Amino acid sequence: MATTHPDASTPEALREKYRIERAKRLRPEANAQYHDFSGKFADFDTDPYVEPGFTRDPRVEEVDVVIVGAGFGGMLAGANLRTIGDATFRIIDKAGDFGGTWYWNRYPGCMCDVESYVYMPLLEETGYMPTEKYASAPEIFEYCRLVGRHFDLYDSALFQTEVRTAEWDDAAQRWVVTTTRDDRLTATFVVIAGGVLNHAKLPGIPGIETFAGHQFHTSRWDYGFTGGGPVERMANLADKRVGIIGTGATAVQVIPRLAESAQQVYVFQRTPAAVGVRNQQRTDPEWFASLPPGWQRERIRNFTANVTGASPGVDLVDDEWTKLWSVDTRKLPESPEEAAELERIDFEKMDALRRRIDEIVDDPAVAEQLKPWYGAYCKRPCFHDEYLPSYNRPNVHLVDTDGRGVDRITKRGPVVDGEEYPVDILIYASGFEVTTDYHHRLGFDPTGRGGLSMGDAWADGAHTWHGVFTKDFPNLLMISTVQGGFGVNFVHYLTETSLHVATVIDHCLREGVTEIEATEEGQEEWFMLLLSKVGGLAGYNASCTPGYLNNEQAEGDMKAARNTPFMGSVMDYADTLAAWRDEGTWHGVMLTRS
Ligand code: NDP
Repeated sequence: MATTHPDASTPEALREKYRIERAKRLRPEANAQYHDFSGKFADFDTDPYVEPGFTRDPRVEEVDVVIVGAGFGGMLAGANLRTIGDATFRIIDKAGDFGGTWYWNRYPGCMCDVESYVYMPLLEETGYMPTEKYASAPEIFEYCRLVGRHFDLYDSALFQTEVRTAEWDDAAQRWVVTTTRDDRLTATFVVIAGGVLNHAKLPGIPGIETFAGHQFHTSRWDYGFTGGGPVERMANLADKRVGIIGTGATAVQVIPRLAESAQQVYVFQRTPAAVGVRNQQRTDPEWFASLPPGWQRERIRNFTANVTGASPGVDLVDDEWTKLWSVDTRKLPESPEEAAELERIDFEKMDALRRRIDEIVDDPAVAEQLKPWYGAYCKRPCFHDEYLPSYNRPNVHLVDTDGRGVDRITKRGPVVDGEEYPVDILIYASGFEVTTDYHHRLGFDPTGRGGLSMGDAWADGAHTWHGVFTKDFPNLLMISTVQGGFGVNFVHYLTETSLHVATVIDHCLREGVTEIEATEEGQEEWFMLLLSKVGGLAGYNASCTPGYLNNEQAEGDMKAARNTPFMGSVMDYADTLAAWRDEGTWHGVMLTRS
């Protein structure tokens, strides 16, 4: 096997190398090592994209549906409600506009590395042509606004507003939702489309609050300080030393932009990213115009099939995603021979990415430190053509922490291995909470029948039917990864689930269904199905470095198992929902009619 490291020339040696690198990174605190933007870190949460001082009068209203979240999930739920029927609804979001992820993430270089023609929803409905194969964040954010206008969603939106409480009133058969703007909305249904990467986290490095320079998280980029914009050079950094903590998918996009703007860039690395080829291309308008009706759904499904090992025989997107993830190496092998073959494929995928580093990075010592030693499914792969070349610039310095992370932060800057790195600005590319308790990430704890909170109902992990309904919380519908779908193209999942949710709500409103909630038996049946889809995940994860894809390698327990997504493909999930709707027996849920 071609390899890039003397310790990894055989499968046995490579397995041992993965084991050693994993062991360096295991932390018993798991998710508890991180801080969120609360308490002494509350200032990190300031929205830099709105004018301060916004006020409005509180609303007291009755609507059919309250949608929590104005990202693609909430927008698609609203668009579907508009298209299918005449339900009245309000969309509530903390942000100042539509967009969710694309509202908050405006860091320089931000883009979507899933092809725009499959990622950006409703392109045929809106008639919009993405300008490039991989759309930039500003373009996607503008597109979110276009979707908002196209489906007339702005009049229904309450921005810069957070849900404070959502309580089920059993006698009235209604939800009562209150907000941080003192609104009081009464609704028959609540749809929670709270997002997945919505709750930013800071690394648990001692001393963060003592840093005397300027600091922020990538999802709250302070252009007021750096100058420039998502695509413009950041002129104010020309005489600045910048530190960036983290080398995940966000940092991979930010670092090349910092490198061209800042005087010095110090990259603090705990685990290297696996970075494949990007190969950006402009959209050919003639090709785009020639696509037949129905093309987008076909392309979306074809992409999902190709990245979930379904081998449809045709690869319409034909990019690094479909090449890298064409065989799901987490599959439960049926024989020792198949296990060896899956391991070989995985090793070779990662070895190709390690060889790419040797080809691009000039300094062999830096190249060695940038190499990822874990399986292809342990961390989300990245795709970028300028990230690795950044390390050939004299102003970019990799500070590898050999898996330990930054030791502490002083008022001057990060300390690693006893050495202090003075910087003027410190940027946290430290990601988002993904596997912590659902109600914690939502920022409010829904209260169902008899005052039961979701935090209590799910104290031992989630209980749902399809990841959408939960017992004792009538008429609450969730669009979430908790027992719901998950995939490389997350918007594929949002598209299918928002359609499902809107269809069910429309049916209930038309047919006089006053309450719908999961049954106990339905929840256990769904959980059993989820377990059957997990495949070889536990075995695969045993060799992985920690991260959000494996719950930071926290000791496995039933709660974590209950909170996992549906591990089949999005198509499999969507087809399950569609079959249930077509069947019309309402199996797994309980209906009350007026
Ligand atoms: P990640 O969670 O992927 O990365 C966080 C980084 O911070 C990791 O490198 C982590 O290291 C590092 N870190 C955490 N604690 C410390 C510490 N104490 N010292 C040093 N380093 C530390 O977050 P991202 O924001 O990069 O990405 C999150 C997700 O957002 C992606 O996985 C992807 O799903 C999505 N995304 C998608 C994009 C797209 O193009 N579609 C672009 C960008 C993001 P370690 O790995 O060791 O934990």
